[in-house]
Amino acid sequence: MQTTLAGNMVHCRECGTQIARSAPTCPKCGGRQSAAGGKSKVVAGILAILLGGLGIHRFYLGQGWGIFYLLFCWTFVPSIIAFFEGIVFLLSSDDNWNAKYGG
Ligand SMILES: [Zn+2]
Repeated sequence: MQTTLAGNMVHCRECGTQIARSAPTCPKCGGRQSAAGGKSKVVAGILAILLGGLGIHRFYLGQGWGIFYLLFCWTFVPSIIAFFEGIVFLLSSDDNWNAKYGG
């Protein structure tokens, strides 16, 4: 029983109680679980590097001002900015990332 459940269980980030991986909040302490519903920094980083000139990574992160990347994509400036943003995304620590974009 324990082993079959293990793959679907995680420890609460706040109190350490074992909870379902899919749970958005801890049933015991109510702490938000950033792993659920958070954005992937790897996906955002790759989007920024490959499609950053179109602001795709900003739309992925739910930031509507990504439209400015699209408006100015013909200047190639957004592509350059987004490339470096992608690098920063990929290099940022999980804690920093979760604080900004998790959950
Ligand atoms: Zn908890």
